[in-house]
Amino acid sequence: MEHGDEDAWLDGLKATPEQIARDMREAREAQRRDQHAPLPDPSIIPGPDFPSDLPGVVRFHCPHGCGWFYEESTHALAEPGRVILPADFTPEDLTGMLALNWEARFLDFRSRVETAITDHYAARHATA
Ligand SMILES: [Zn+2]
Repeated sequence: MEHGDEDAWLDGLKATPEQIARDMREAREAQRRDQHAPLPDPSIIPGPDFPSDLPGVVRFHCPHGCGWFYEESTHALAEPGRVILPADFTPEDLTGMLALNWEARFLDFRSRVETAITDHYAARHATA
């Protein structure tokens, strides 16, 4: 691993909410380009904001402006879960496992946000 790569990797571990939001947008864009993984309606997840009085909280507002919002902790994304590596792991193994770990946390996170918004739509904005 080059020294610069190591710095970039360390920076990734100290991601700020703004970086996480950018990563989420980039991941969404990447997934949109992938024909094999079509996204649900991209308008379902509104852009989040970060309440200044609540550090570590990311808030997704209802796009209809009804005042409802859903909150998640950014720690759910920033803190790696358990990473399993072989005894003789290489830097590539570690990078790969961390990427998979990040992707799994991101998909869980997105799924929770989508579920909360979908439930809210059904309860408050259902077009019967
Ligand atoms: Zn609403």
